[in-house]
Amino acid sequence: MKKHIIIIGSILLNVLFGQAYTLESCETNISGNTPEFFQKYFQCVDASLSESGNYINLYFNGLAPYESWYYPNGDPNHIDWYSQGQGSFLIPNAYITEVNYVVSIPVNPEARPNLSIDGDAVDGEVGTSNFEYPMGSVGSALNGVNMFNPCASPPDVIEDEAASFDLYNGHPAGGELYHYHTTSPGPLEVLQHKGLIQTTTVGSGEIEVYGIMCDGVVVLGCTELDGSTPNSSDWDAQNGHVHDMVDEEGTTMFTNRYHTHICYDDITEDDTDGNGFQEHEFTPEISYYKTPGMGQSFERCNSMTSPIENDMLALDDEFIPIEFSLYQNYPNPFNPTTNIDFDLSQNGQVELAIFDLMGKRIRTLVYGYEKAGYKSITWDATNDFGQSVSAGMYFYRISAGDFHSVKKMVLLK
Ligand SMILES: [Zn+2]
Ligand SMILES: [Zn+2]
Repeated sequence: MKKHIIIIGSILLNVLFGQAYTLESCETNISGNTPEFFQKYFQCVDASLSESGNYINLYFNGLAPYESWYYPNGDPNHIDWYSQGQGSFLIPNAYITEVNYVVSIPVNPEARPNLSIDGDAVDGEVGTSNFEYPMGSVGSALNGVNMFNPCASPPDVIEDEAASFDLYNGHPAGGELYHYHTTSPGPLEVLQHKGLIQTTTVGSGEIEVYGIMCDGVVVLGCTELDGSTPNSSDWDAQNGHVHDMVDEEGTTMFTNRYHTHICYDDITEDDTDGNGFQEHEFTPEISYYKTPGMGQSFERCNSMTSPIENDMLALDDEFIPIEFSLYQNYPNPFNPTTNIDFDLSQNGQVELAIFDLMGKRIRTLVYGYEKAGYKSITWDATNDFGQSVSAGMYFYRISAGDFHSVKKMVLLK
């Protein structure tokens, strides 16, 4: 009887006050055709591959999956404000609100030509260099919280704005999305929730990944995806560098991906490492890659109400495509695995095979009777016949009845 009352009581509380929005209660829908990076690390977002396979569309609701004093009074996620140190203050009437938006992140971002990182790129001001991110949203944290550019509203510097951050180093502003400018325990809690790390103290995580910018730059802390310490001599002024991003299990998440390491303990405007630039704890100030959709313009590197391209249809076994299609592999270039998707509009004999530039067959991936539908095949280029396939261009060819199609792909090492 007593137990019965307690159960009714908790149901009543949920009805009256709603359920807290947490990593457990949030909805996560990551399509299996997105790169493994998104499937492994993200939570509280929807992620889908776009029609052409060129973008990952990440959908958000603008909410933070933890308690914050920027949730309004009466919200189950609301906690009372307290000072976190000298100068700390609460932005009046700024609240976390639900805002549905999307960012489209290129699967294979293209580096900007002639990119030089000079003083303007790290001056704490937006708009002095062609390559600087715009004021506003520039990507997504693992937990679906918006990532903002590194600067506060001109002419403020972010170090001053930091006094209005909450426990998670986030804040809403002026009706804008709740957002981060910097490292935060929030994304590390996602990694903990997924059983990947034990420690969520910023700077002490076994691995530290915070999110991805909408141009494709990955934001890390001072630990690589495989748990190693980054080689700081490789960093540029934005604390970024390029190398393959391999996780602790040896899976390559990205090949040659520019990423940033945010390692500084103190918020500082000093040039402590003597490289001529002031240190920034925050997300990088310049865009290393071409911004999706708009060439040199930055308007697309922002939160949007609709993606650059619609999602690829989520096809189940019942779905019969109208026509045969062979899609571009992803990732591409790749090392060592890549995915090849194709549509079969009829049941029948199918062959999918890999050839080198000389036309020599390297591997037969599919050979036999297949039912109509949407198919996805993964090729691992390292394990064919116990040999390593050499880097370079390869072709993959499909034959299904009268349908034949050939596409190129590039293996990088
Ligand atoms: Zn801000
Ligand atoms: Zn690195």
